[in-house]
Amino acid sequence: MPALLTIDEALAAVLARAQPLPPEAVPLAEAAGRLLAADARAGTDLPPFASSAMDGFAIRAGDAPGELPIVERVAAGRPASRPLAAGEAMGIATGAPVPDGADSVVPFEAVVEHDNRIAIASDVAIGANVRPRGGDVRAGDVVLAAGCRLGPAQIGALAAAGLAEVACGGTPRVTILSTGTELRPPGAPLAPGQIYESNAAMLETALRRGGARVDRLEPVDDDRDAHRVALERGLEADVLVTSGGVSVGPHDLVRGLERELGVAEVFWGVAVRPGKPLAFGTRGATLVFGLPGNPVSSLVACELFVLPAIRALQGATTPGPPFLAGVLTSPLRRSEGRDDLVRARSELGPDGILLTPVQGQQSHMIVHAAAADALVHVPRGTGELGAGSTVRYLRLD
Ligand code: AMP
Ligand code: MG
Repeated sequence: MPALLTIDEALAAVLARAQPLPPEAVPLAEAAGRLLAADARAGTDLPPFASSAMDGFAIRAGDAPGELPIVERVAAGRPASRPLAAGEAMGIATGAPVPDGADSVVPFEAVVEHDNRIAIASDVAIGANVRPRGGDVRAGDVVLAAGCRLGPAQIGALAAAGLAEVACGGTPRVTILSTGTELRPPGAPLAPGQIYESNAAMLETALRRGGARVDRLEPVDDDRDAHRVALERGLEADVLVTSGGVSVGPHDLVRGLERELGVAEVFWGVAVRPGKPLAFGTRGATLVFGLPGNPVSSLVACELFVLPAIRALQGATTPGPPFLAGVLTSPLRRSEGRDDLVRARSELGPDGILLTPVQGQQSHMIVHAAAADALVHVPRGTGELGAGSTVRYLRLD
């Protein structure tokens, strides 16, 4: 294996080749989870008119304290028939337009009402309980910037600003191919030497959540012809993700056959555990990831390299990986020549997130890894990171 790249070098090499896919116009109802491809601008002032923040009475602040006749009642969606004059009050509901001529709203609780008149005992400030027109956003201003992921609040903001459709980054089509003669589908009986195929379902879950459209090919035996046929199909996608067959054994066929099929390898080998034999290349615009077969290696390599590429293809301005800060509860030894990603459980402590490594850190131990919700980054070096050290971690959820 040639000199290993650092995580940052490998990530930079991947992201340099992950160019955003062409954007698409997407109806708002289908845009959840997608990334905005262009700044979304408000089609209207929001609120579109000065509106009441309370159920109460619209008045002129200068008329309080005092007693005023109620000349009209204004409901949401039903503006007043005329401006409010000095010495008048109009009943008003939350969200109803504040009538011209009024400058404030006194809540029901602050008045005494009798005989279609109100008595206000104290001063009222100009603007009290009035939401000014355009107070949230002005027509033409940016509601959300390009690159933003559309969650519930963002979808709500776009709808409130009057947008029925938005430009979203394209959805990457990913094909997943597992390799290994030993692999059997979950549910089937196992013959001696066989194990259940688990990487494809795991990777599909991660990549779908990352916004990709995922196809899975039937796993292939460690056989050149089977590999060639499947890889050829996989290379039609925007991203081909294989698992297994990228190490140095005689049955590791993926890289050689990809080379024969025209894949230009960009790197093979990253100084990280687990995940070291990761291979990455391109054929035309297709990104080609060869993940190691050990399930935890596959998971870690997906989090560190494939998911950022998937986000970049969708137009993310910060494709990640989205590291957070936490504090170790127990020491972790550092490795001299490589970074480690340690599976840990996170909990909320008095001053932030606490991270406790889980038992069973070997790269085949997917069940132990499933007890973790965090991947702690232990940078290469000597000695250890002591309990209480602040570290970077990725959420696994
Ligand atoms: P490989 O990278 O092909 O040398 O595989 C490394 C280890 O991961 C071996 O123990 C394989 O049996 C196991 N492995 C490979 N692919 C899968 C898979 N799709 N699901 C579960 N385990 C796998
Ligand atoms: Mg194999």
